[in-house]
Amino acid sequence: MKYISTRGQTAPMDFSDVLLMGLAPDGGLMLPEHYPTVDNEVLKEWRHLSYPELALAIMQRFATDIPHADLKDIIDRTYTADVFGSDDIVPVRKLEDDLYILGLSNGPTLAFKDVAMQFLGNAFEYVLKRQGARITIIGATSGDTGSAAEYALRGKENIEVFMLSPHGKMSDFQRAQMYSLTDDNIHNIAIDGMFDDCQDIVKALQQDAEFKAAYNLGTVNSINWGRILAQIVYYFKAYFAVTNSNDERVSFSVPSGNFGNICAGHIAREMGLPIGRLIVATNENDVLNDFFNQGAYQPRTTDKTYVTSSPSMDISKASNFERFVYLLLEKDSARVHELFEGVKSGQGFDLSDVLEAVNTRYGFAAGKSTHADRLQTIKSLYETYSELVDPHTADGIKVAKELQQNGEVIICAETALPVKFADTIIEAVGQIDIERPAHTEGLEELPQHVIVLDNKAELVAKQIRQHVTANLP
Ligand SMILES: *Cc1c(COP(=O)(O)O)cnc(C)c1O
Repeated sequence: MKYISTRGQTAPMDFSDVLLMGLAPDGGLMLPEHYPTVDNEVLKEWRHLSYPELALAIMQRFATDIPHADLKDIIDRTYTADVFGSDDIVPVRKLEDDLYILGLSNGPTLAFKDVAMQFLGNAFEYVLKRQGARITIIGATSGDTGSAAEYALRGKENIEVFMLSPHGKMSDFQRAQMYSLTDDNIHNIAIDGMFDDCQDIVKALQQDAEFKAAYNLGTVNSINWGRILAQIVYYFKAYFAVTNSNDERVSFSVPSGNFGNICAGHIAREMGLPIGRLIVATNENDVLNDFFNQGAYQPRTTDKTYVTSSPSMDISKASNFERFVYLLLEKDSARVHELFEGVKSGQGFDLSDVLEAVNTRYGFAAGKSTHADRLQTIKSLYETYSELVDPHTADGIKVAKELQQNGEVIICAETALPVKFADTIIEAVGQIDIERPAHTEGLEELPQHVIVLDNKAELVAKQIRQHVTANLP
């Protein structure tokens, strides 16, 4: 299988090459030439597979340039009870007869990003070894992405990680998670500034062609195709967990920011998984809610991007959205190019003429949740079911309940565990002890490793030069 860009100006590539990429050279996103489809017979077989077996069955249809035995080895090392807390990897639990929660957050950093990132870490290491290459990953994080990346890449050969975070702006738990790591290849840099400043430094270094080439700079942000691929698997797993036969339809409600998670659901649906609706749940940063209800997409300016109590969904634009629009516009890459070049400079676009297809042909629906909604949802679930959910998951459940149709079964994605966002939980239900996995016991008391730098790209470049040179074989 070959991969192409949504902008149509990149020569077709193999999976292994796409795996190490961010944006395509033409500015688009990479995706397979077509999504493979599966029929009822295949679904019947897949219904009985374990998580790693299912992951292999799905991924080998996309990663065709990795030998079967090697891919199996990568997957078997990734999806273990040791890393994800149970053999189910993504256990489903029932909330009500027609409402389920899909536990995606039982990995090392207690957020759904681990499911994809743990795979990516092992796949990166494998591909780099095969190519005899080294890579320097630089990233900016306000919390979940950075820690998931660090826990996936720690101790990996031929990979150095430099993660920039805004000094003093993350939660105690998030800070402790990242800064307590002691692996030689993980470098935490706190920047005296905001998240946007961190992101600007990453961009500046990426745009320095000479520097980029010398240190083989790469990223692991949410547009990475490998992350999307790994996320497709759990839509299948969850569907099988709540149905008895492939005649049944199930919908998913997904707390969304950059449209990475639900994009994987969309691809699962395109592959033939009997998904009813894909419900996009947003917080106050509701650009996707507007699009899926009205057909108009308008990225937010920085001053209109709100800081909310579901912070991992605080986005100005949804970076994976282009993958869906490409398909929606019947692979008209010239048009996609035009629309998303506009988005880059803050312009929106209007596709209300095809909104009907968005909702029916592709099954999308959307709703929005606010701070008051998530507090209310957390409180009510706690009081009714003794069930504690994090603020992002609460957004998904709120929207699911609001949009649920008669007879519709909905699975809500749990995208983080409540202990990560203790302040909001306590605001919702009062002072309680929030359960935390044994491996995070005492995390905040561990020594922390971070250097604080002024908001200057040159200072970060200097760190990279020092450490990467020092680590050359
Ligand atoms: C990243 C994240 C999201 C948003 O996921 P997207 O793939 O960006 O749509 C939602 N909830 C949590 C907890 C996250 O970390």
